[in-house]
Amino acid sequence: MATYIVLLGSPGAGKGTQADILIEQTGLAHISSGDLFREHIRSKTELGQLADSYMSKGELVPDDVTIAMVKERISMPDCERGAILDGFPRTPVQADAAKIMLNELGSDITVVPYITVPDEILIARLSGRWTCRASGHVYHNLYSPPLKEGICDIDGSELYQRDDDTVETAKKRLCVYAEKTLPLINYYRKQNRLVEIQGNQPIDKVTEDLLVALDIKE
Ligand code: ADP
Ligand code: ADP
Repeated sequence: MATYIVLLGSPGAGKGTQADILIEQTGLAHISSGDLFREHIRSKTELGQLADSYMSKGELVPDDVTIAMVKERISMPDCERGAILDGFPRTPVQADAAKIMLNELGSDITVVPYITVPDEILIARLSGRWTCRASGHVYHNLYSPPLKEGICDIDGSELYQRDDDTVETAKKRLCVYAEKTLPLINYYRKQNRLVEIQGNQPIDKVTEDLLVALDIKE
């Protein structure tokens, strides 16, 4: 059976950072709903325009369009062996939809690592985050700088600061997370799928803990 992992955690907890490392180690696909929306914005699609109107304010994009977008992505051939879901699901309605779409593929969510980091650290992480234009690889000006300033180590593309990574919008996103996404912790805990991971550790230590949770040896 394919492996589908849901990475849960606040904005800035390290989901994207860890997903990029884990796809190398596991060969699973990476599905980041935020990256998919940003691709739509860049390509100036109708969905991109709609998504931008929510993202720029730090609010969630409506469930129906988000679910349809992820469903299309998860049906692609590179997800057949499984995928790491990063940033989706983010509401109970999305969590129910994730279950249905995976069941339709004859599968289910395997494990849900929940990366925890104190709020005051999250703001510093988000406001210092630099993201690569080509593939969404992430860096931090202090905690995880690229080898060459402004350039992605992996694909050489330009690094930029996301419009929603200001202190003000980051605070709003943390409130939205507490209201809309926190209920998922109990949802997955009740299903015995949740594994808590200390996110306030060096990046490689968080990866080590995740590999243990996923039962994968380095
Ligand atoms: P998320 O996808 O959960 O929003 P990211 O992976 O984009 O989080 O990480 C947010 C920021 O924090 C990025 O700038 C990243 O480089 C940095 N970061 C990620 N993990 C760590 C860590 N363990 N320690 C310090 N900084 C980190
Ligand atoms: P972060 O890594 O900081 O948590 P993301 O890239 O995951 O940020 O998300 C950026 C924005 O994209 C969110 O603030 C929200 O507006 C939108 N978004 C991403 N995923 C979802 C989702 N599953 N449901 C609704 N909105 C989403």
